[in-house]
Amino acid sequence: MAHQPPLSDQEALVIFSGGQDSGTCLAWALTRFARVRTLGFDYGQRHAVELRCRREVRSAVAALRPEWQERLGPDCLLDISLFRQLADTALTSDMPIQQHDDGIPNTFVPGRNLLFIMHAAAWAYGKGIRHLVLGVCESDSSGYPDCRDDSIKAMQVALNAGMDSHFVLHTPLMWLDKADTWRLAEELGGMALVDVILEQSHTCYEGTRGERHPWGYGCGQCPACRLRAHGYEVYLSRHHQK
Ligand code: ZN
Repeated sequence: MAHQPPLSDQEALVIFSGGQDSGTCLAWALTRFARVRTLGFDYGQRHAVELRCRREVRSAVAALRPEWQERLGPDCLLDISLFRQLADTALTSDMPIQQHDDGIPNTFVPGRNLLFIMHAAAWAYGKGIRHLVLGVCESDSSGYPDCRDDSIKAMQVALNAGMDSHFVLHTPLMWLDKADTWRLAEELGGMALVDVILEQSHTCYEGTRGERHPWGYGCGQCPACRLRAHGYEVYLSRHHQK
């Protein structure tokens, strides 16, 4: 194999869906790295609204600070429609979203995050990027085992062995609950960033923008909306009591 130049410490790649978590991670990366790129995955989601929100969150976050604007590099959307073949789940078909008895929702594509990370690392390697930033977290028990800290650490070891490289997988939200994630956004970008995430980011599994709730847009009923609404309430009661 031809010898590759070392991966750059200056640049980070944020796995970016345009939701609350990855929007906050984007701001986190923009405060720490000289250059930041974003990478998203189009795996036949039911909702084009997610892809539109993704672009809007990206540009609105960067616009908050001149240095963030300078640091933000290009975006890339990888087509991984093979996900349709790997799993028949609620996010890629017309099945209703339900929670299985084991607590794992049927929006789960087995190992989805591991597949995302694998694709992102292969892409980052080609660009010479060392730092990958992921909005996964263990605290909210979303039921996805591949979001857990041990899974991510094991993945880092596997990537570095398998690609003979020194990737660092950053998970700034790993031990935060959704309320803490709002708080982190406030610390990183003030209430202006909180407002951008409230207004622009998309979390709802149903792909509904619907009415504007205090916590943002969405159906208000699906597990993702309920988690987001609850987190926002707790954040306000912890930090913004009247
Ligand atoms: Zn919803």
